[in-house]
Amino acid sequence: MLFHFSNFTTSIVLNFLIILSFMPSTSNAQDKGDPKLSEIWEPVPKVVTPGGENRQPPSDAIVLFDGKDFSKWESAQGGPPKWEIKDGAFTVVKGTGDIQTKEGFHDMQLHIEWRSPAEVKGEGQGRGNSGIFLQSHYEVQVLDSYNNKTYSNGQAGSIYKQTMPLVNAAQKPGEWQTYDIIYKAPEFNGEYLKTPATVTIFHNGILIQHNTVIKGTTPYIGLPQIVPHADKMPLKLQDHGDAVSFRNIWVRPL
Ligand code: MG
Repeated sequence: MLFHFSNFTTSIVLNFLIILSFMPSTSNAQDKGDPKLSEIWEPVPKVVTPGGENRQPPSDAIVLFDGKDFSKWESAQGGPPKWEIKDGAFTVVKGTGDIQTKEGFHDMQLHIEWRSPAEVKGEGQGRGNSGIFLQSHYEVQVLDSYNNKTYSNGQAGSIYKQTMPLVNAAQKPGEWQTYDIIYKAPEFNGEYLKTPATVTIFHNGILIQHNTVIKGTTPYIGLPQIVPHADKMPLKLQDHGDAVSFRNIWVRPL
């Protein structure tokens, strides 16, 4: 008998109804269905054992360098690499040229550790310069970018002369640094580009390239070029004249 309610009681009832209308529904249609309908049981993801704290590669990785030998590598000019292996790392020997993997890769997760020389020589692009060429064509810059001014799209972690890193995550010269790279290869239709390559990069665990579109090759002079190439191409490391070292290199083809 609403007529008998006082104004005060009516106000409480109304407020209660308003509050109820703003509360999230606890009985929507989904809750009444079968939860099994949205469960996926097959296939089951393959078990991969992580490398753990001692920086070992995960169990399903292709180890490209374990600190011992150049068995997975060759000089980009042919023949064995002329870089130096010492203390579980290999180091650029100036003037001996780039080196590359014997095997080619397409989409991949790549882990690579690098170190610029502890003794700082030169400046800008002349300081701890090397590079990681994804599929031999697209340079992820390696540079001593610790308090070292240069053009932003040429510092460590840049897609060289294209896209600067989101932040500068450089360690001091002489300290080991990591790149973890997720690379999606370009797709070509004959001489035409169908889908550009994309790349995501963590530098020392920090996101510096976030699904970045690679516009083409990464030349020193001029604009990126579309250069159709094979589905699988080697990973190439640059001799830029500086004694940059590398270790613990592994790849997981995707
Ligand atoms: Mg370089």
